[in-house]
Amino acid sequence: MEMTFKSILDTPKSHIIIAGPCAAESEEQVLKTARDLAALGNVDLFRAGIWKPRTRPNSFEGVGIIGLPWLKKVKEETGLKTTTEVAKRDHVFEALKYGIDVLWLGARTTVNPFSVQEVADALQGVDIPVMIKNPINTDLSLWIGAIERVYKAGITRVAAIHRGFSVHGDNKYRNTPRWQIPIELKRLFPDLQIICDNSHICGRRDTLLEVAQNAMDLDFDGIMTETHPDPDNAWSDAKQQITPLQFGDLYNSLQFRKRTTDDAAYKDSIDHLRHEIDEIDEELLNLLGRRMNLAQEIGRFKKMNNIAILQSSRWNEILEKSVKKGSAVGLSAEFVESVLKSIHEESIGHQERIMRQG
Ligand code: PEP
Ligand code: MN
Repeated sequence: MEMTFKSILDTPKSHIIIAGPCAAESEEQVLKTARDLAALGNVDLFRAGIWKPRTRPNSFEGVGIIGLPWLKKVKEETGLKTTTEVAKRDHVFEALKYGIDVLWLGARTTVNPFSVQEVADALQGVDIPVMIKNPINTDLSLWIGAIERVYKAGITRVAAIHRGFSVHGDNKYRNTPRWQIPIELKRLFPDLQIICDNSHICGRRDTLLEVAQNAMDLDFDGIMTETHPDPDNAWSDAKQQITPLQFGDLYNSLQFRKRTTDDAAYKDSIDHLRHEIDEIDEELLNLLGRRMNLAQEIGRFKKMNNIAILQSSRWNEILEKSVKKGSAVGLSAEFVESVLKSIHEESIGHQERIMRQG
């Protein structure tokens, strides 16, 4: 679907900074966080969850509508614009009633087209920016599908929030970043703003900066970080929240990258290096083409002699040899394996087609 997006901020700036507690707990907690964040002078949007989608029942599920006037007060008192998560039509109507400036769809909503559609229908004819978190699983189409549903409701001020993906086996992050997925989203929709929610990727405090920095290095358009006046005693996501003061430090430590520069020397060098990369890519493609032709020839030969396509010992031998050779030129075993596996899969595919031909 053809889509063109506008900035979610009225006065566009190079990076969108969003901070605030995981959840609104009390008027005092909300206002204290907002005052301290406003004092930093760099926050564009104040976040606070009013309705919380929790993994298990009996945990704190948000204060509900009684928290909405607190957010209204935040705006009146500090001038910070506010944003909260909506998952149902009533959430949308209530949030609009209290003048919430920006809405967001959570990861557990994006996975469910029924819920996304319900929210989109409630948004029909409303002019408000909407941010859409990636689904919890590594499914780019599902993310794009949610963006399309919201866009079709007439919302053009849309941003995507990258909050990582739930996978087994990654012990470093609560939600593994899989940067390739937001990178692909950006490639498909260059004018869609992408914000990094480092809090939900990390799930802990000590990696927040490195993840936010990584996002800036990849030209993301902003960050969303959970902040709480007393993080250890937060009612939800206590391990990953930081104080507004710590958020100020994180912000000051971040290197915000420029998209490009007019510096002639830089341009010269980068053009030269890119030209070299293009040449190498062309060479690689030619080599891959030649390799596939050889695989096809081998396939015909195997067929003539009635030999099975897959030769496990030969395949193992190639893998082992290549991992060793790759390591000698600075390539990681995972990289060499994944490239070779993909080449091998393609070769096998060619040979299978040859076997099936009459
Ligand atoms: C949140 O932002 O507090 C939240 C519930 O996030 P997610 O939808 O990414 O899990
Ligand atoms: Mn949270």
